[in-house]
Amino acid sequence: MVPRHGRPVHPPALDPATFRRALHAWYRKSHRLLPWRETRDPYAIWVSEVMLQQTRVESVMGYYSEFLERFPDAGALAAADEPAVLAAWSGLGYYRRARFLRSAARVVVREHRGRFPRELEQAMALPGIGRSTAGAILSIAYGLAHPVLDGNVARVLQRLAARPGVPDMAPAQLWELATRLMPPRSGAALHTQAMMELGATTCLPDSPACPRCPVKKLCGAHAFHLTADVPAPRKRPRQVREEECVGIISVRDGLVLERRAGPGALHGMVGLPRAASREELQSSLGTAARLVEQLPGLTHFIMNRRIATEVWRGTIASRSRLRGELFVVARKEVFGQPLDGTSRKLLKRHAS
Ligand code: SF4
Repeated sequence: MVPRHGRPVHPPALDPATFRRALHAWYRKSHRLLPWRETRDPYAIWVSEVMLQQTRVESVMGYYSEFLERFPDAGALAAADEPAVLAAWSGLGYYRRARFLRSAARVVVREHRGRFPRELEQAMALPGIGRSTAGAILSIAYGLAHPVLDGNVARVLQRLAARPGVPDMAPAQLWELATRLMPPRSGAALHTQAMMELGATTCLPDSPACPRCPVKKLCGAHAFHLTADVPAPRKRPRQVREEECVGIISVRDGLVLERRAGPGALHGMVGLPRAASREELQSSLGTAARLVEQLPGLTHFIMNRRIATEVWRGTIASRSRLRGELFVVARKEVFGQPLDGTSRKLLKRHAS
C-alpha cells in the first residue's frame, strides 16, 4: 500500500481489545464534565439522549437540568399535558422529539411500571427511540452491550476502517463493527460515552485532531491520509431562500400569538403571528391592527432553508376582532407558552 503522501504503510489492525484500552484510558483522563454523565438514572439518561439527537451539547446544557426539575421522572412527564412539555422544550428545536418523549413516557408508565425497559426490542418500540438511541440508553444506564451508532460514531468507525479505494461501509457493516468493538463483559457505559466523546471532540467532520487522537495507531484514515475523503462527502441539498414577516402585536397588557396549525414540525407550538409579507400579515390581523414600527429582523436556518424574518411592532384595538388561530396571552405568561425558537428569540429581544 502506498499512501497519498509519505512512505508505504500497512493497514493497521483494528484489534478490539487494544482499541478499547486506548480509548477508555483517554476517556477517563480527558472527558468533558456534562450533567448527564453524572447520573445512572435511566430516565435522566433517556432525556439527555433524546435532547442530544441532532443538537449540540452547548444547546442541550441550557435545557437539560430545568427539564428534569420540571419533569423529574417518567410518571411526571406522562402526566403532563403536551403544551407544558413543548413549552419546556421551546427553543431547542425538532419539537417532534418532545412529543415522542411524552408519548414514550406514557408507554413506560403503562407497560413498564415507570422504568425505561432493559430489552432492546422494547426500548426500540417506544416512540422516538431508534436502535442507536436505545443502544446509548441501555449501555449507559444498565451497562448492557448494545452499541450506539449516531452520526459522530459512524464517522469514527468509517475512518478507523478506511482503506484506499474501498468505499464507505454500509449501515449493516457499521453496526457489525460497532458491536465487535463493544466490551463483551463490563464497561459498556464507559465505552459508549467514550465513542461519542471521540466523535464529538476529536474525530471532527472537517478537521479531525489526529495527532492527539488516542486510537490514531489503529486508524486507517490516519495511516492512509484519507480523513478528508472518509466518510465520502454527502451532496448537500441546494439552499432555498425564503422570506417571512412576523408581528409583535400588543393588546393592552397582552400579546397576540398564533397557534401553529397543521401537521408540520411545529405542530402544537405557538408563535408570533406570521405571514409571507407585511401586506399578508396586515390582512391576517385585520383592519383593527396597526403595524407601526419595523424592528431589526433575523435570519435563521431550518435544514436547507434560509429564512429571512422581517419584524414589525404593532397594536390591535380589540382582541375580539382576532380571527382563526390568533389569540391573546398576558405578557407575563408569554414565556410559559410552547413558543417556536424564532418567536422566543424575537420576543426576548424586543418584547419589553
Ligand atoms: S486518528 Fe484521526 S481520523 Fe482516526 S479516529 Fe482518530 S481523529 Fe478520527
